[in-house]
Amino acid sequence: MDQSTFSEYRKNKKCMIWQSKHITQHGLKSKKIISDKTIEIKDLRPSPATECIAIVGGGPKGFYALERLLAQLKDAESTTNLEIHIFNTNSFFACGQNYRPDQPDYLLINYAIGNIDAWEVQQAPQIVTQRLNLTEWIKHNKHEQCPEVNPRDFASRELVGYYLMDCLQHVVQVVPKNVSIRLISTQVEDIIESTSTYTLYADNQRLPFAYESILLVTGNSYHNSYLENAQQHAHVTCFNSAYPIRQLDLIPDQADVAIQGYGLTFTDVALHLTEGRGGRFEYQHNELIYIPSGREPILYPYSRNNLMMLPRSGMLPEEKYELIFFTDHYIDSVRQRNRENKISFKKDIAPILQKEIQYAYNRLAREDDGLTEMEVIDKLFFPNKDLDSPQLENYHQYMLEITQYMQEEAAKGISASPFMLAVHACRACLLQMAKVYNFCGMDGKSHEYFDRKWSSNMNRLSFGPPAENSKKIHALLKAGYIQAKYGKLPAFRFNSNGLELFNDYYTKTFQYHIDGRIAKPNLAAANNHLYGNLFKSGMVRELINDSYHTGSIAIHSDGTLIGKENSMLYVYGTPTEGNVLDNDTLSRKSYNFGNIWAHKTASLVTTKYKKQYEHSL
Ligand SMILES: Cc1cc2nc3c(=O)[nH]c(=O)nc-3n(C[C@H](O)[C@H](O)[C@H](O)COP(=O)(O)OP(=O)(O)OC[C@H]3O[C@@H](n4cnc5c(N)ncnc54)[C@H](O)[C@@H]3O)c2cc1C
Repeated sequence: MDQSTFSEYRKNKKCMIWQSKHITQHGLKSKKIISDKTIEIKDLRPSPATECIAIVGGGPKGFYALERLLAQLKDAESTTNLEIHIFNTNSFFACGQNYRPDQPDYLLINYAIGNIDAWEVQQAPQIVTQRLNLTEWIKHNKHEQCPEVNPRDFASRELVGYYLMDCLQHVVQVVPKNVSIRLISTQVEDIIESTSTYTLYADNQRLPFAYESILLVTGNSYHNSYLENAQQHAHVTCFNSAYPIRQLDLIPDQADVAIQGYGLTFTDVALHLTEGRGGRFEYQHNELIYIPSGREPILYPYSRNNLMMLPRSGMLPEEKYELIFFTDHYIDSVRQRNRENKISFKKDIAPILQKEIQYAYNRLAREDDGLTEMEVIDKLFFPNKDLDSPQLENYHQYMLEITQYMQEEAAKGISASPFMLAVHACRACLLQMAKVYNFCGMDGKSHEYFDRKWSSNMNRLSFGPPAENSKKIHALLKAGYIQAKYGKLPAFRFNSNGLELFNDYYTKTFQYHIDGRIAKPNLAAANNHLYGNLFKSGMVRELINDSYHTGSIAIHSDGTLIGKENSMLYVYGTPTEGNVLDNDTLSRKSYNFGNIWAHKTASLVTTKYKKQYEHSL
């Protein structure tokens, strides 16, 4: 690799974006090793006198739980013969769908590499000695001529996939004796409970194993419903998900494409349909410009609020905003006041959030530029709410201006921009909200109100794309490959020419539509095959807070299922959302029900535990 490759990085970018092309072949070797270890259902045979454990879902969190289980078993006095079956819909174990190493390298993680560590950092039994976090792993494996690694840098998701697979490869090399691991590429469809074990169904067959313990760690595996009646209109191609992203390659060059959602998926789609089709981004006079290939479709995004996510700079965990008002002490005092009742979001929380965010803004604003609480909230959350008709007719121009403003504020950072400091406070408030939200801490109405009105807005401000990707989106708006025409949520109808999206200000007909939202759990609608079956058989229950039907699986605070108190069926990660706030991340730190499951499962299968267990019955 030539040193000059990095001249542009040095000249124009504050942070490097690490991709697999920067890593030596030796560093990337685990993908093949893991893929070679992957088997299919037909390769599985029961072994006599062997106990079986299952992990359903082979994403990062399935890997985290496996690593903890093995670390626990390492110190157990003796174990019976044990097989751990990990099921995943593809052979990219430890990556899941989101960090697949076969995806294009312009799809990025949305926070700095210094935040990513696949290993347990707390005091805990360990099985692998060399436990590198992502920053150290890149340092260790990069080509010599690449620049120094900075924890504030970003990385492609495919590179994170290589890292995670390498971590898994280290773990499978040190499996304790008596234990074997099977990486099985198939989708689990159902689970049936017997007296104290479970049977799994996959590939339309009953698997010949009695599982002692199961962890459900299935990530983002819900489906959006198709646009109403879409399937009756074959002349319109409707994608109900943007992933896998390469399916969008069937969209013809220069086609007009409507996309629902302005979030992170929208960014992926926009880059795939431009950079992914041979276009290039180049700095000219310090500004990022798009150089087209001529093969780009034109994207017409729309959403409920028609606003982009805020760019994120490479921040590290230790740079957390210190909350002044929305503190643990405040939350405790609210709980004390409401001993009989749950917390009310509107009465107890919204005012303090507003105060916290306003305070952050005014700390940096010049005295004569200070804003009231509502002015700050409007500026951050609803900047387009008072647009008049001419502005809504020319929404694209508004979008260009607001994304330009966002770039400028992001470049100033949290030490010079009141706006960005307020956003930083908002991010801290969202993380703090978990203490109020978790396990139905708020009454049902508040829970629903927060989920519907505040959560996505706070997410939009707090967890946006890396600044570099926001600049690319701005360049695409400027070049006209993104047409932000809809300033109000359009209605839709099918006609003989295609799908018509219309509001008072703009109407257009499309042959292609992408649902660019990440689907949320909806047990009653069975938008996940496995959970639909488990809900039907009564194995899982829906989380209902007062009269609010969340659509999520109801769990206890240790990750076990409500209604299955003595069972060894646990849930971890995205399927626990609704019970806890924001468990859809790579982080190992929050709500790690996988650790609890690993601990309990290790106890269950060790001889020592069995004796205690029998004694206590
Ligand atoms: C496009 C995208 C980008 C993201 N970027 C970031 C980011 O930059 N940073 C961040 O912290 N978070 C990000 N996230 C959030 C992401 O969910 C987590 O980072 C992480 O993937 C969660 O890991 P997981 O193991 O819980 O789930 P997943 O990674 O979703 O893995 C679950 C795996 O289980 C498999 N599976 C599901 N059901 C079954 C079944 N019935 N049988 C067998 N296998 C099954 C799935 O196919 C998948 O491979 C992103 C999410 C998306 C959708």
